[in-house]
Amino acid sequence: HAKINKRDYQIYDANIDKNSIERFQLINELKVAIEQNQLVLYYQPKLNLAKQKITHVEALVRWNHPARGIIPPDTFIPIAEKTMQMDALTRWVITEAMDQYHRWQLLGINMCIAVNISAENLKDEQFCHWVINALAEHNVPVAAMTLEITEDAVVSDPELAVKQLTLLRKNGLTLSIDDYGTGYSSLAQLKQLPVDELKIDKSFVQKLLENEADQIIVQSTLQLAHNLGLKVVAEGIEDKATLEWLTKLNCEMGQGFYLSRPLPEQQFNDWLGQSDY
Ligand code: C2E
Ligand code: CA
Ligand code: CA
Ligand code: CA
Repeated sequence: HAKINKRDYQIYDANIDKNSIERFQLINELKVAIEQNQLVLYYQPKLNLAKQKITHVEALVRWNHPARGIIPPDTFIPIAEKTMQMDALTRWVITEAMDQYHRWQLLGINMCIAVNISAENLKDEQFCHWVINALAEHNVPVAAMTLEITEDAVVSDPELAVKQLTLLRKNGLTLSIDDYGTGYSSLAQLKQLPVDELKIDKSFVQKLLENEADQIIVQSTLQLAHNLGLKVVAEGIEDKATLEWLTKLNCEMGQGFYLSRPLPEQQFNDWLGQSDY
């Protein structure tokens, strides 16, 4: 038996207590944050590797908290999922992305925007109808919107998920499987999914040129995806050599810190203006 003294227990308990109070505060404040526009979208470019042009971006949400500053999504997305706030959050994200689409159009920038969809959204029968109506009401072409979905979004109720995805795709939205390679879905399940694109998870890309296993995985994923008629996005590109390697292998799009970190609107526009793309 390891010796644990009483003091350690007290410290441990105090930490749990502190965390749960903080968590409770975040739950309540998140509701206010969504209502009062404390959320903000950052944009990360997706480079078309063949054309060497930025035609797409991924919108990534942050919470600009009045006291805590910028809170990353990994901190509050799980809370939103557990407290029935994912619907409101995703609607906010999509609405903001639609406004951004028009702000870029006014600048002469034709940009396709990808937003992240949670498993909770696909459990809601109304979700896809809301998306399709919202795009029509806001005059945003469906072709300008990509929805990124993780594999786990499909496992809890595959029938409902596939039904919603099919309807979204029939209406012209682009669907992308996010974090590909990290989930547990079988190839048989993936084959059934009505999607257009795979995003290879950054864990296979970040150290690609140092790791032969990663090269084999990425190469075979590209082959598999292309044979299934899917486009491939590689995320987590952190250096020039990796970008060139992926371009040579006919990967369609690349995303990562080597090109740009996710940036707020104005900084993104400045970056785009001075980039070679
Ligand atoms: P994700 O969808 O897989 O997004 C990619 C994450 O990888 C982003 O983190 C991005 O900043 C980071 N990243 C991009 N390029 C690189 C790179 O080259 N190297 C490294 N190390 N990281 C890179 P972020 O913005 O913190 O988002 C984390 C996750 O939070 C996202 O992962 C997504 O699952 C979730 N998320 C973000 N925004 C939303 C949203 O609006 N709705 C939902 N449901 N989830 C969101
Ligand atoms: Ca994503
Ligand atoms: Ca991802
Ligand atoms: Ca992820």
